[in-house]
Amino acid sequence: MIQLHDLFFETFISETEINQAVNGVAVKINDDYKKKSPVFLIVLNGAFFFASDIIQKFNGNCEMSFIKVASYEGTKSTGDVTTVMGVEPSLKGRDVIVVEDIVDSGNTIEAIIKILQQEEVNSYKIASMFYKPKAYTKSYKIDYIGMDIANDFIVGYGLDYNGLGRNLNKIYKLKQQKMKNIVLFGPPGAGKGTQAEVLKEKYNLVHISTGDVFRFNIKNETELGMLAKSFMDHGDLVPDEVTIDMLKAEVEKNTDANGFIFDGFPRTNSQAKALDSFLAEKGEGINGMVALEVAEDLLVARLLKRGETSGRSDDQDESKIRNRFNEYETKTAILKDYYKTQNKYFGVDGVGGVEDITGRLCEVIDNL
Ligand code: AMP
Repeated sequence: MIQLHDLFFETFISETEINQAVNGVAVKINDDYKKKSPVFLIVLNGAFFFASDIIQKFNGNCEMSFIKVASYEGTKSTGDVTTVMGVEPSLKGRDVIVVEDIVDSGNTIEAIIKILQQEEVNSYKIASMFYKPKAYTKSYKIDYIGMDIANDFIVGYGLDYNGLGRNLNKIYKLKQQKMKNIVLFGPPGAGKGTQAEVLKEKYNLVHISTGDVFRFNIKNETELGMLAKSFMDHGDLVPDEVTIDMLKAEVEKNTDANGFIFDGFPRTNSQAKALDSFLAEKGEGINGMVALEVAEDLLVARLLKRGETSGRSDDQDESKIRNRFNEYETKTAILKDYYKTQNKYFGVDGVGGVEDITGRLCEVIDNL
């Protein structure tokens, strides 16, 4: 797997398969243009590898010309095609072979054919290394096709994603995120644990509550538990390195999961960054932060009430509770901005009946 900018790509077509496809096209062009001296019109930038390979295999005399049009932004075709560099010298009366890297919607080909008609060429044919039959919306014949591909976004052998990837000698395709990963967010006592129990069943996700994992370790007197205990007893955050390593280990235990509900993690900016890059290494990411919004006074009362039955010492003492809020306000609340800048923050009213709140959460999660 390779990374280009923010996206991950996996191997799709080997160098050998590319060579076979190129040879196939070259043989057909040689057959069709035996007694002619065509002009190869190379569509920049992506087609330069393919053009170079087929033109070197052309047996007769030929000329080359270049044209540059633009229609792609990121991974989506925009539909509008603009000519960045036109044909020069004139192609009037010539037999032209347009060389494209990929025919997708067909907008580029349409624009080029219009230019060829204006140029009053004698004949034209289209050669493309790749062709996406399902995406093609036009009816112009593509005369020479290296290979058909499905509707994947691909890079390599001249094709790029925002400038990168052209130099790759294999074809890679965009790795689709398979998991649904949700950060369930909100101050202590907002109801994250209660809601996570319902949501994990509904969406078949693995629920990781870092607080629960710490408590489990404390109960079983593990090394990790001993380390976390003093911090937790005071309502302080456990140091990032410890928490991040623990979280990674929990994720690794469930690599075939449909996704995760992260509850109580991330709580700091560096935890959020660590989570993003850890998931990115797997070609995954966070779909959204869903935050339960509840006023603090209501929460203190809720937590003291929970402390009567939960057995959690950090729920029984108001000063510890206040310290947990202080930690939340000073270290954790900023994560709202972290996810907001990625357009991944979704606030949900956390006051009301459990089922009503679940309903509000599901409305958001269904659309992630
Ligand atoms: P919780 O059950 O989420 O309220 O967490 C209880 C306590 O566990 C917190 O007050 C922290 O001491 C510790 N803790 C849980 N998650 C984290 C985290 N992501 N980073 C640091 N400390 C954490």
